[in-house]
Amino acid sequence: MLKKILYSIWLVIFVIAVFFSLKSANFNTFIDMIENRTFDLRQNIMINAKTKTPDKDIVIVAIDEATYEYILDHYGEWPLPRDVYVKLIDYLETQNPKIIAFDLMFVKSLKSTNNADDSLVNSMKKYKNVYTAMNLDNQSEDLRKPPVLPEKLAVKVTNYSDINFEDLTFTNCRSILEGILNATENVGMINVSRADDGILRKMPLFVKYQDKYYSQLGLKVAIDAINSTEKNKIDKHNFVIDSNSNLLLADRRIYLDKDGSAILNWYGNNTAYTHIPMYKLIKVINGEAQNSGYDFKNKIIYFGTTASALFDIKTTPTGRTVPGVEVQANFVNNIIDDNFITKADKAITIFSGIILALLIGFCVMRIGSAFTASFASVSIYLLYIIASYYLMKYCNLWIEVIYPLILSLLAFISAFIVKYIIKSRDFEQQYILATTDGLTDLYNHRYFQEQMKMAVENGKRYEKEFSLIILDIDFFKKFNDTFGHQAGDAVLRQVAHTLKKNVRATDIVCRYGGEEMSIILPNTGKDEAYTTAQKICERVANNKIKLTGDKESHVTISLGVATFPHDGENASDIIDCADKRLYNAKNNGRNQVGK
Ligand code: GH3
Ligand code: MG
Ligand code: MG
Repeated sequence: MLKKILYSIWLVIFVIAVFFSLKSANFNTFIDMIENRTFDLRQNIMINAKTKTPDKDIVIVAIDEATYEYILDHYGEWPLPRDVYVKLIDYLETQNPKIIAFDLMFVKSLKSTNNADDSLVNSMKKYKNVYTAMNLDNQSEDLRKPPVLPEKLAVKVTNYSDINFEDLTFTNCRSILEGILNATENVGMINVSRADDGILRKMPLFVKYQDKYYSQLGLKVAIDAINSTEKNKIDKHNFVIDSNSNLLLADRRIYLDKDGSAILNWYGNNTAYTHIPMYKLIKVINGEAQNSGYDFKNKIIYFGTTASALFDIKTTPTGRTVPGVEVQANFVNNIIDDNFITKADKAITIFSGIILALLIGFCVMRIGSAFTASFASVSIYLLYIIASYYLMKYCNLWIEVIYPLILSLLAFISAFIVKYIIKSRDFEQQYILATTDGLTDLYNHRYFQEQMKMAVENGKRYEKEFSLIILDIDFFKKFNDTFGHQAGDAVLRQVAHTLKKNVRATDIVCRYGGEEMSIILPNTGKDEAYTTAQKICERVANNKIKLTGDKESHVTISLGVATFPHDGENASDIIDCADKRLYNAKNNGRNQVGK
């Protein structure tokens, strides 16, 4: 009974703990963090196995350490004068690249001259394949007033999903040259999404600013790149997010996570794409070199900083120091290859967790050996992990592994507990069967002998007395002969019941054999035992026994009492003594306690 209460209390606490854990935001953040790490692991294994090849047509013109030094030598402190970019654009355009995108923001600069800025603006007006970046933020209005962005930069997003873009709504904007904003619509934002652990795994496709949506630079670049070659054109001004959180881009469907960002599928570490140091191009425009040695025809050229001094470094699943431009390139590559990661629905996670839990529970319950059961459970979970890897590799699907792990562990532990309870209950049942008499529910002869031995041992060790009553039903043969064996059995049961009712809980009532019964009374002296025997004798004699019809009868018993250590120092002596006194009772006329 106590055990049952303890188990119930434990179970209730356990269920409450699980319930509150699942509801707690901190716990969920913690679990998400570990889940994200498993995503990183899967991505890194894929990269190391070289299962994904980056698009060879995306190249990065890198403002690397060498270029930084070159610029310091030739032009002084950063930033680079704007007319240098103009010359670079002019030079690259002669090679017919598909797109030239600057992962750089041309903000107002004291160093820049109006002339240089104007020529950059003109250059962006002239070439329709040149793109540049802007950034939205939440800077306070004390610092700068939120600028109004030209109508043509905004896009329309029809959103049928439950994504609310709350985290992607900004109140201010770092203005880039107004001339550029007015000259071209090829300006995209370069905001990124970071998880709680600071790692960049996702890219927002749209941000909200002054009630309008603005799209990611890479999205503009990718759409124009796709539209330049594919028949099925993507509308770059009107976007639809369906009710399953997929952004529809003609044939492509980009899954957006609950915060409105796409989960990047990584192609490599810091340098998945060809990096061309920018100084090599500057040398060409300055006449220091004949050509850069690179063919830019049909390439998507991304300008960006990779020098740590210029600080545009992100931590991604694949590296701690990944240049922002590399992330942009990866993002564009994902859109072109239609290769983003889709996160499996919560329902799938719960479903797979339950299936795993059931399988593991089944194994633990069915397999006899605890070691084999544990081994099987671990194997099942490992198979699930392997499946999760291949699903990501071949289906771009991210199925969660941590929640199913928790469910599996719960199933594993619970199954072991249930198994233990069932086993111990079986054991109890076996024990009861082995020690009780089926007819009377009293302890059987074997148990009686064991208990006698134990009582003697205890009596000797602790110098305590105990008593034994042996009793026998009078003229039982006659009773059987008169009323039948069944009535006899009922009498045995009734006498047994009377005995149990009239002794203490610590007394041990046994069926000695046939119609003889015995009672071991621990810590009971001669007189007390005699009184008990007397009481029992009277109670049995007074009990009416119902027979078939309205007939009634009654039986009497004869008893013998012996006490340790006065009547014997061992079990058999005491039994003999009690037996002898019982015999005396019979001889003396029955229905009495023998002397
Ligand atoms: P006494 O007063 O001397 O003890 O006479 P008695 O007839 O009781 O003694 P005896 O030992 O001659 O007979 C015992 C009888 O108890 C014999 C047997 O039929 C009956 N008996 C023993 N076990 C059971 C049982 O399990 N069920 C029934 N109905 N009778 C039993
Ligand atoms: Mg007998
Ligand atoms: Mg008898």
